[in-house]
Amino acid sequence: MSTDASSPVVTASGAPGPEVVHRGVAGIPVLEDLPPVAGRRVLVRSDLNAPLRPKGDGAFEVADDFRLRASVPTLQWLLARGAEVVVCSHLGRPKGKVDSRYAMAPVREAMAVIAPGVSVMENLRFDPGEETNDEDFVHHLVDGFDFFVNDAFGCCHRSHASIVGPPALVPSAAGRLLMREVEALTRILVYPDGPFVTVIGGAKVADKLGVVTALAANADHVLLGGAMCYTFLSALERGVGASHVEPELIGDARTLLGHHSGIQVPYDLVALAPGGRLGLGEAATGEVRRFDGDLPDGWQGVDIGPTTVASFAEAITHAGTVLWNGPMGVFEDPRFAEGTRSIAEAVAACSGFSVVGGGETAAALHQFGLEDRIDHISTGGGATLELLEKGDLPGLAALRGRSG
Ligand code: ADP
Ligand code: MG
Repeated sequence: MSTDASSPVVTASGAPGPEVVHRGVAGIPVLEDLPPVAGRRVLVRSDLNAPLRPKGDGAFEVADDFRLRASVPTLQWLLARGAEVVVCSHLGRPKGKVDSRYAMAPVREAMAVIAPGVSVMENLRFDPGEETNDEDFVHHLVDGFDFFVNDAFGCCHRSHASIVGPPALVPSAAGRLLMREVEALTRILVYPDGPFVTVIGGAKVADKLGVVTALAANADHVLLGGAMCYTFLSALERGVGASHVEPELIGDARTLLGHHSGIQVPYDLVALAPGGRLGLGEAATGEVRRFDGDLPDGWQGVDIGPTTVASFAEAITHAGTVLWNGPMGVFEDPRFAEGTRSIAEAVAACSGFSVVGGGETAAALHQFGLEDRIDHISTGGGATLELLEKGDLPGLAALRGRSG
């Protein structure tokens, strides 16, 4: 990984043509752009959607406070300057109704320790107006506040009230976490150091076809693995046995392959015999074999093979920028973790700028103990993919068009 993890946000070029789609990430106001916050009331939209677990007495407690801790730098910046800070978030999916299972109380308790002095509002999704982006709800939300700060990057692809509404009403800015994501992903979108290598795997082609299409236009290599590669292999008329294929997307995959010579599919694959079971320990059964080229009928492809790993790793090693989303195989079953582990090691060892996104991909990195060797691990999920695909997000556009 490179040492230069922070780079400035590019300024809007205003140039017409194909670059326009990328202009979106420029010009977002940051905390320093706000008027003095001392003695003023600031509403912060964070992502405090932490997993909960029962405490025993019918109440819940925060099971993992990663997201809560991640919200602290922005809150501290405001507190240190004398602002009165109220933080708001959604928690779970209460579907527009008050539901005690999703009350913010456990989050409030944890935040009292992590960020003393900050008030925590009740779950935004207790009001149906949050998800429908209701105008009255937005007004009610910002009532009594002088400024708004959005620090919830993972929610910025949703046009929900607390994400897109406030910037039209009060002076607003992006928080630290949000800007970190925007800077890292902008760097990939707008000025990646070459060679630019992207590795895409994971479960569903339908979720990732858009991002593969967008990246294929800019990247020198697009390396495909995971369950999604079998749809592409089918498009090339390779034998895929009983692997996971999305037949309705084979045509799109063929078109993409025809347009972009940089897309690489696996040569060899690790497969599970007919009747074998994926799993851990006792649950895992069936013969495992490596095949060059085609898979026989009934065999399910569940990892990339060593020849493919060597070829992918070679491209990654020489990358100036590497972006990885989606495991290369069913890494949860140790028999099929090798491809994902080797790619994770290659990305970690790459001296270029490295960005990794996706829930399971981040979990794999964590499992292999390689997190610290990646320049930026995106927390976004859907927001990350949508920003890479479209070059902008509703929540970012709202901040750019802020009042004040
Ligand atoms: P992320 O959350 O990182 O974006 P996805 O959600 O797209 O990743 O996909 C992750 C899942 O894909 C993993 O749980 C993994 O088991 C599964 N997967 C990877 N390769 C295969 C495969 N060949 N067959 C079936 N599932 C696979
Ligand atoms: Mg996932």
